[in-house]
Amino acid sequence: MIENLIERGALFVINHSAGKDSQAMTIRLRKLVPAEQMLVIHADLGEVEWRGNIEHIKSTIGDLPLIVCRNENRTFLDMVEQRGMWPSPSQRQCTSDQKRNPIEREIRRYLKAKPQFGGLVVNCMGIRAAESPARSKQTPFRKVDGNSLGGREWYNWLPIFELSTEEVFAAIAAAGEVPHWAYAGGMSRLSCVFCIMASRADLRTAAALNPDLYRRYVELEKRIGHTMSMERRPLEEVTGIPV
Ligand code: SF4
Repeated sequence: MIENLIERGALFVINHSAGKDSQAMTIRLRKLVPAEQMLVIHADLGEVEWRGNIEHIKSTIGDLPLIVCRNENRTFLDMVEQRGMWPSPSQRQCTSDQKRNPIEREIRRYLKAKPQFGGLVVNCMGIRAAESPARSKQTPFRKVDGNSLGGREWYNWLPIFELSTEEVFAAIAAAGEVPHWAYAGGMSRLSCVFCIMASRADLRTAAALNPDLYRRYVELEKRIGHTMSMERRPLEEVTGIPV
């Protein structure tokens, strides 16, 4: 099916977070898909992202075109403040509000501006089964009927779904690349600096590496009376780092 979509001239969009999975996915796709059929999109979460994300992406995608998009109406922290609560793993409004919707909007714009793709698009994400039981249940390749409208034919594909964490790092090393600096800083995952689904160890490391942003999260927790951690305890308690 993928070979067929390549032959039909589909646009392959790389959803790039700057994390290791996006990087390994890009390495795999660049071996499969002609460069003129590829586009990289990064949803920029601004102040809540790791430093150097965009520079890291640029340094690892060669000549592929890159679009950096964002929610033009509100930031992640605005969203939390307005709702008076943090997103939860079961209601990840942050993902749709700050990432998926802005990226899908850019894809629609790009397809409109580039009629040579005939509205045919494969939206690629670096989600892996090994990340969590919930992710292991995802379908690695599917047509998205809800986006296949207005002359578009839209597929979602998870090209590295079966890779282990070790295989991801090995693929990056084999390509002569290095992952984002935050991994060497001690993070096991790279998403928002403070992710609602992060482990205690990652929250502690992130707080130590980003004290100013950490203070803003702690202050926001106190202001809205709601904590972001899955443990349902205030960040200061979870990390053991007082502000
Ligand atoms: S990285 Fe975590 S906090 Fe950030 S948007 Fe994704 S799920 Fe939400």
